[in-house]
Parts: sequence; C-alpha cells; structure tokens
Amino acid sequence: MRKNIVAGNWKMNTTLEEGVELASNINEALKASKHNCDVVVCVPATHLVSVNGVIDRELLGLGAENCSEHDKGAYTGEISAAMVASTGAGYCIIGHSERRQYFGETNEQLLAKTRQALANGLTPIFCVGEVLEQREDGSFNQVVRSQIEALFALDPADFAKVIVAYEPVWAIGTGKTATAEQAQDMHANIRAAIEEKYGKEIAGDTSILYGGSCKPTNARELFSKPDVDGGLIGGAALKADSFMGIVEAFD
Ligand code: PEP
Repeated sequence: MRKNIVAGNWKMNTTLEEGVELASNINEALKASKHNCDVVVCVPATHLVSVNGVIDRELLGLGAENCSEHDKGAYTGEISAAMVASTGAGYCIIGHSERRQYFGETNEQLLAKTRQALANGLTPIFCVGEVLEQREDGSFNQVVRSQIEALFALDPADFAKVIVAYEPVWAIGTGKTATAEQAQDMHANIRAAIEEKYGKEIAGDTSILYGGSCKPTNARELFSKPDVDGGLIGGAALKADSFMGIVEAFD
C-alpha cells in the first residue's frame, strides 16, 4: 500500500538558528499530534546536520532540496548525494520547477540525479508540473507525462522507491491552488503512465504528492481525492502551525 506523505520544502529560507528552531517546533508538535501520514522536512543543505540533531527520526523524516548528478570531484559548490546521505538525511527533492527554470536542469540531468540519490540510499521526491501557458494551451497532460517518462530508464525496483510530486508551476507560491479535481485528474494521468511502464502494482504503490499553495484550509479537500497521497508544501511549511494544520488533514 502506498503511503500518505506530507513533506515541507523550505527552499532558501531560514538561517541555521531559525531552521533548527522550526524543526524542533515541528518535532514537538508531532509528538502530541494524531495524524495518519509520514512527515518530512526538506531543508537547506547547510541545516541538515543540525536539524538531524534535534528531531526524532521516527516522527520526522529529513531531506535535502537538491543533489548533484555527479558522484564526486571537481564540481565546486555542488553537494553530492553521498554527502547528503552522510548527514543522516533520507530524502532528496529532485527536479523542483525552480531548479528546472532558474538552473536549467534537464530531464537527462534529473535522471542522473535520481540515480545518484538512489545509489546513496536516499528516497527521491521527483517533481513534475506544467507552466501556466501549457495549462492554458491544453498540453499539460503531455508535458507532465514526458517529465515523468524521463525516469522510465530506471529499473522497476529503483522506480518503486521514488515519490512523485505534481506541482503545477502556476500554483507555486502564487496563492492559486489547482482545484482538487484538477489535481486528481493529473495524478490519475501520472499513475496511468507509471502503470503502462511498470505495471499495476508499482503504479498503485507510488505515492503522488500535490504541491502548489497547499494550506490547512485546502489540504483536506485535496487529500480526499483517491490519487492524491499527500503534499509537498512550500510557504506553509515555514511555520510549525500551518505545516501541522496540513499534516493533521490526514487524521
Ligand atoms: C513548492 O515550491 O514546492 C511549493 C509547493 O510551494 P508553495 O506551497 O509555496 O506553493
């Protein structure tokens, strides 16, 4: 059975001190909370070791926001998947739309990053999603299908470890959420593509998260859809209260 997951993506926010405080507050809140999902925070690379030191990993998973597609060597400023794993992290976001858009990450690079993450025992949270123009011109299903197909070079055992996050770019940080029906339709489209390639069992077991202006007020409706298995949360993950409001939508 696939898992329900709520994962925070802190992006380039919080100083080390603020990040450690936020993670401790979430960890504390989780102790008292009743929720029916796994919870993860994906934090800036500079915070991984310290955050790992203040959370209970049984309650709260830890992830990075990116990793290099290379193994190691002369790539100044890059952070390898092995380095991420050595901090104690267990997850890594790959292919966030901001990385695709501002850093020109290609499908080939994202496949290589995913392979690196998997080879180092990290669970990839692989992001896909269309831009507004593609939503409006009707090409969104095909665009997202081709993004997910970039991972279809993985063998089935590896693909089965991937978490997918559907994040329509027009809904990220804009306050404009996809309707629960739009999210459901796309998640079903993604699951159908996975089923065609890897079969019913792997498709049925793949967690597909929704991301894009998800908040405590809309999480319950989004998560009630059969193919929406949780959320990847940006802005609302930066306050323990709002993040917990989304986590607790899975009660
Ligand atoms: C994100 O960037 O992954 C995201 C979903 O952001 P927000 O929740 O702020 O739209």
